[in-house]
Amino acid sequence: MSEVKEQIYLTVDNIKDQLFEMNDFIHDNPELGNHEFKAVKLLTDFLAKNGFSIEIGLAGLPTAFKATYSHLDGGPTIGFLCEYDALEGLGHACGHNLQGPSIIGAAIALVKNLRCMPAKIIVFGTPAEETTGEKVRMANAGLFDELDLVLSMHAGDRTDIDNKLLALDVLNFNFRGKAAHAAVAPEQGRSALDGVLLTFNAIEYLREHVQDHVRIHGVITNGGKAANIVPEEASAQFYIRANNRPYLDTVLSRIYDIVNGAALSTGTTVEIERIQSFDNIISIETLNKLLLKYASECGATNIMPREKTGSSDFSSVAYRIPGACLRIAFVPLNTPSHSRAWVEAGKTQKAYDAIIICAKALAASCYDLIYNPELLKQIKTEFLLEKERIQTSVNYYNIKDIANKPQL
Ligand SMILES: [Zn+2]
Ligand SMILES: [Zn+2]
Repeated sequence: MSEVKEQIYLTVDNIKDQLFEMNDFIHDNPELGNHEFKAVKLLTDFLAKNGFSIEIGLAGLPTAFKATYSHLDGGPTIGFLCEYDALEGLGHACGHNLQGPSIIGAAIALVKNLRCMPAKIIVFGTPAEETTGEKVRMANAGLFDELDLVLSMHAGDRTDIDNKLLALDVLNFNFRGKAAHAAVAPEQGRSALDGVLLTFNAIEYLREHVQDHVRIHGVITNGGKAANIVPEEASAQFYIRANNRPYLDTVLSRIYDIVNGAALSTGTTVEIERIQSFDNIISIETLNKLLLKYASECGATNIMPREKTGSSDFSSVAYRIPGACLRIAFVPLNTPSHSRAWVEAGKTQKAYDAIIICAKALAASCYDLIYNPELLKQIKTEFLLEKERIQTSVNYYNIKDIANKPQL
């Protein structure tokens, strides 16, 4: 191991007690999305003490923050993202209490060992991952545009890279019909619930004619008030996912047709609300391998490839900028997140170990990328090529487009 890496690891070890205290405080004071004031104060105070300049409140989000450390002129700009929101009724059941300490440990170990290498290191605090996914708003505000690379961490039941995060859109369909007595004058009513039910049925037919990676799941959020009244209002919510944004957009276009068709068929109207929209992750093999190499060297357990995954607002950042999220095992294999088991593991030795392993692995990886600009360049090239491959792989025709094409 090089002497600099030893120094990086030593810097993390020297602040481990403060990192564990931060973890325990955040775990003991769970705060819901966009209300993580205590966590933000704790993390930014520690970053300020270590020479970072702090901005709290970004993109209209009171609990978003940016902590910047500039070292000499030039060099790459590297962003570390951390979350700190808890789950309603459960507390820290997704391990977000580990993220601030892990990321801050990495950032401090890195800036204290840059020596003659220029670089800018920015820690972003990103609120409300579990609810409103505010990284998207931060990305849309251009906050990450200056970054050459973005890194994040998440606790897990295994150590891996979150390289399969799906693109996601959350849609509400609000149908409006006409109320009438269901027995005396049904012919005068128009059922908003019929619009919802037709939507569900038509989506079942669509399901067969999309690529295998697409996931569509919905619930009825308002099915009417009483069986003896033709429902005037009815609503459904759908999650629609795919492993890439361009293909998901084609599925969305077909779903909009379905919903509008359901309204037309039932004599109702429909309003489509787009609640959330995440892009997919762009997986960069060279970066993933680098992070896992150091995670392994630093003692990570249960290292195995990612099989399945859901969606996260992190991928909306890593769709724009090369990046990766390192997951570090801290609970036994196959222990599901958002569970009591995760809450109970939040202050154990395994949680502390995960913080140290992650801080060291992220700092060591970044050191390599700053020291070796060619490696960072290779990662950027891989990112661009993979994104281009995804964008050109979608070859989709809507039958309407074909019908509307002028004949030769
Ligand atoms: Zn979660
Ligand atoms: Zn989480």
